[in-house]
Amino acid sequence: MAVLIRKLKVINSQELGKNMRRITLQGNDLADFPENQESGYVKMRFPKNSDHEPTDTKKNFDLRSYTIRAFNLEKRELVLDFLLHGDSGPASKWASSAQIGDSIEIAGPGPAILAADAADWYLFVGDMTALPAIAVNLEKLSPESKGIALLEINSSEDKQDLKKPEGVEVKWIINSDPLTGCEDLIKALSCVEIKGVNPFAWVAGEFELLRFARKLLKHDKALPKDSLYLSCYWKIGEDDPGMKKAKAALILFDSIKNLFSFK
Ligand SMILES: Cc1cc2nc3c(=O)[nH]c(=O)nc-3n(C[C@H](O)[C@H](O)[C@H](O)COP(=O)(O)OP(=O)(O)OC[C@H]3O[C@@H](n4cnc5c(N)ncnc54)[C@H](O)[C@@H]3O)c2cc1C
Repeated sequence: MAVLIRKLKVINSQELGKNMRRITLQGNDLADFPENQESGYVKMRFPKNSDHEPTDTKKNFDLRSYTIRAFNLEKRELVLDFLLHGDSGPASKWASSAQIGDSIEIAGPGPAILAADAADWYLFVGDMTALPAIAVNLEKLSPESKGIALLEINSSEDKQDLKKPEGVEVKWIINSDPLTGCEDLIKALSCVEIKGVNPFAWVAGEFELLRFARKLLKHDKALPKDSLYLSCYWKIGEDDPGMKKAKAALILFDSIKNLFSFK
């Protein structure tokens, strides 16, 4: 089936703390974009060669996933938050210099995995790439929800004013150089006491965080599959296709290990 591509324009780009940019896209192609997909993602298409016009040939684009932070059907507006990690990748490079009126194509949305109403205690863990999705999740929880969110940010100026239930504690963990790893976030996760009869854990971010969370929550704590969302969003030293290969290899290795019951 042909992928539906939507052509949009940048209508706003604003700083969100020190290392993020909030970009609002608009276009009539959003007229049939589904509602209530916040925390799901769109695939952004960055032309590999800026000289040629976008075409439908997939190999002419770098595809990158970005979380739907907000969507307004009436105004045909889609809001995405980009961590600016430098010029080495097409997405971060584009977001750093996006101007009002710039064109961009998107595909999607991919599924919104919400923790809302699933549990009696919540654990959220993520770095700045996961912050948009965690922010949506926190907003959608019922007011009496309880839990903890461990959020790694690059600077104290990246703290966001999150709308969340009072019973969900937020711990900000500052990591000024995520390219050296997320040791403090992993340490904080390893110290968390899982509470509740029916807990839900939501974890996304760098590859090593996910490798650790997978071992801790899936294998050691044996949280059931439907009480877990574990997703690798990026990998140090790999672009998005490289991260996907590493992720697939990890899952394959895990399956083989389980098959032969090595521990
Ligand atoms: C479902 C999903 C939703 C996501 N939502 C968001 C979102 O809302 N906001 C957001 O900012 N990101 C989000 N991400 C992460 C984003 O897609 C990746 O960080 C992506 O690799 C960025 O693409 P790029 O073109 O900038 O860099 P790439 O070309 O993929 O990589 C180039 C280099 O940059 C490095 N790099 C990639 N990401 C980072 C990073 N975060 N920090 C430091 N170095 C990095 C790579 O290791 C590589 O060396 C999401 C990912 C997924 C899978």
